[in-house]
Amino acid sequence: MDINLNKAAQLIKDGKVVAFPTETVYGLGANAFDPDAVARIFELKERPSFDPLIVHISHLDQLNELTEIKDSRVHMLAERFWPGPLTMVLPKHQNVPDIVTSGLPTVGIRMPANKTALDLISLSGCPVAAPSANKFGRISPTTAAHVKKQLSEADFILDVGKATIGIESTIIRLTNYGFKILRNGFITKEEIEEILPFDNSMQSEDLVAPGMLKSHYSPDKKFLILDNIDHTTDKSKAGLISFTGAYEKYFSKVIKVSERNDLKDYAVNMFDAMHQFEDDQSVEVIFAEPVEEKGIGIAIMDRLRKAEYNWQQ
Ligand code: AMP
Ligand code: MG
Repeated sequence: MDINLNKAAQLIKDGKVVAFPTETVYGLGANAFDPDAVARIFELKERPSFDPLIVHISHLDQLNELTEIKDSRVHMLAERFWPGPLTMVLPKHQNVPDIVTSGLPTVGIRMPANKTALDLISLSGCPVAAPSANKFGRISPTTAAHVKKQLSEADFILDVGKATIGIESTIIRLTNYGFKILRNGFITKEEIEEILPFDNSMQSEDLVAPGMLKSHYSPDKKFLILDNIDHTTDKSKAGLISFTGAYEKYFSKVIKVSERNDLKDYAVNMFDAMHQFEDDQSVEVIFAEPVEEKGIGIAIMDRLRKAEYNWQQ
């Protein structure tokens, strides 16, 4: 057994905070049943207390510790999508501390598809509450180096290379009719519709999940979607996150996120490209090429818009 994994699991048992890989992004985890440990996640991330955490499990049995509902649809979805990037928001068990759910009566739960994450949760012997391992509002981390850049104060960082999916989980909640999407992510609406009908009824209280702000995932330098290109900007100091290759000639620095025109590559490489340009002193403005809002393109455009939000004039 990997000694780092044992060390990380022991730290979680001891109430510490550990950064670890999942298939989506790196998470900053603590024992979900230890309110003091969970409080440190909020503190380190500078995350507002209204923004609830997702709890990660390695075994379906752990569902019983986190939620009291017995709904066969949860098991149908788990069978199809877990381990994997689908988070289900379910009525919470009374033992789940309020700090985890920001006082909500529900808890977000998922089983990550990453061997290190699953081993860590199993060895820790508890569900692990873990948001992404970045400062609140900043670029999500897809490598251990990204975590070190923003959260060097974590008690330990488990490094197993780059996240394989690179974009956050899809978050859903169940309704009497079917499911609603609270956050778009790697798993598309169409994939979930193979199991349950999509509920498109309008109920004002569930249009947004708490913590879903207009600005998020943002670099610390000007970031714009290419649609909104400012023709006065000096492109010699601009970096382009390129997908099709069509606009590369206008820019001095280019990171191409896919060599085969596959949107999954955009998802995998998008945050890393933002980090690279953020670290590059010669780049003053970052542009990203938009994509069609279909399938995973919906989640990609959601992240790009949120990254851009505070930088629009
Ligand atoms: P992250 O910071 O990427 O781990 O995402 C956590 C997000 O999951 C939060 O910002 C919420 O929007 C959402 N979330 C977690 N728990 C709940 C819940 N109980 N109800 C609604 N949304 C939730
Ligand atoms: Mg996050």
